[in-house]
Amino acid sequence: MPAAEFDLIERFFAVKKSSNAATELGIGDDCALLSVPAGYRLAITADTMVENVHFLAGTDPYDLGYKLLAVNLSDLASMGAEPVAVTLALTLPDVDESWLERFAEGFFELAAHYRIDLVGGDTTSGPLTLTVQAMGIVPAGQALRRSGARPGDVIYMTGKLGDAGLGLKIAQGHFSCSQQQAALERFNRPKPRVEEGLELRNIARSCIDVSDGLAQDLGHILKQSGVGACLDWEDLPLSNAVKAYIEATGDWTMPLRAGDDYELCFTVPADKAALLTENFTRIGVIEDGPGLRVHRFGTTELLRVQGFEHFSH
Ligand code: ADP
Ligand code: MG
Repeated sequence: MPAAEFDLIERFFAVKKSSNAATELGIGDDCALLSVPAGYRLAITADTMVENVHFLAGTDPYDLGYKLLAVNLSDLASMGAEPVAVTLALTLPDVDESWLERFAEGFFELAAHYRIDLVGGDTTSGPLTLTVQAMGIVPAGQALRRSGARPGDVIYMTGKLGDAGLGLKIAQGHFSCSQQQAALERFNRPKPRVEEGLELRNIARSCIDVSDGLAQDLGHILKQSGVGACLDWEDLPLSNAVKAYIEATGDWTMPLRAGDDYELCFTVPADKAALLTENFTRIGVIEDGPGLRVHRFGTTELLRVQGFEHFSH
C-alpha cells in the first residue's frame, strides 16, 4: 500500500487502545492476533456492500459505516455470538478525506457501543466496495443454527417488520407518509439485535436474521430444518408507517418480502416460550408439512414469494 494511503489508515482507522479483551495484536502487522476463551467457538462472518447494488450513490458515508458494521453484527447476533473484533476491506475510487472521516465516525460509533476492535483490513482502489469481516465468540454447543426448528416450535421475531423496506421506497421517492423519518432511520441505520441474540442462547432452537425478507429468511430455517410454518398475519409487528403503506397500496406482502430489517426471527419449543422476555413478538408456528403459509382474515394461503417455489407442492 502506498505511504499516503497508510497514513489515511493511521488517521482514520488505527485504534489507539484496544477495547476488547480478545485482542492480543491489532492493526499494524501482517495479521491480527485474537484469543478465544477456553470452551468457546469463534463465529466468523463477512458482508460486502457495493455502491448502486447494496446502497444508493450519494448515501451519507456515516450511514454506510454504521450499516456495514451493523449488518455483520446482525449475523453474529443471529448465531447467539458476542462480537469481539472486525476487519475492514475498503475499495475506494479515490481518497476523499471528508468521506473517510464521516464513514469512520459511523463505523466507530457502533464499534465503540459494543467494545469491538477493528484489528485489520485492506485498502485498495477501484469501484466503491465495502467489506467487513466480523468475529464473535459463543460457548461451544450453544450457537443458534438455522437447522434446529421442530414442528410445534413457536416462531418469534424482534422489533418490527417492513420498516427498512419502506425506508428504501421512501429513499427512492416511491412513497411518502407522515411517519417516514422512522422508516428511513431503520433503513439507513439498522440496529443489530446483539443483546437479544445472547438472550436467546439456550432458549431458541433455530434463528436467522432477516436481511432478505422474512419469507425468504424464514424459508432458510424451514429448508434446513426440514419443516414448514404458518404465520399469523394479524400478529405481525407492523409500524404505523407500514400499516399506512399497506392501506394506501394494498401491497400486504411487502413486510414479508422486503429486506434490510435485520431483526431476528427464531423458533422456540413451546415449553420454553415462558422464558422469553417481552422483547419479542410471536408471529406463527412451525408445522410438519412443508411450505410457508399465512393465516389472514380467517383463511390460510400458501405464500409464494421469490425463493419459495421449491417448498410448495
Ligand atoms: P499487508 O500488505 O501486509 O496486507 P497492508 O499494508 O495492506 O498490509 O496493511 C497494513 C496494516 O494496516 C495491516 O495491519 C492491515 O490489517 C491494516 N489495514 C489496511 N487497511 C485497513 C483498513 N481499511 N482498515 C483497518 N486496517 C487496515
Ligand atoms: Mg503482509
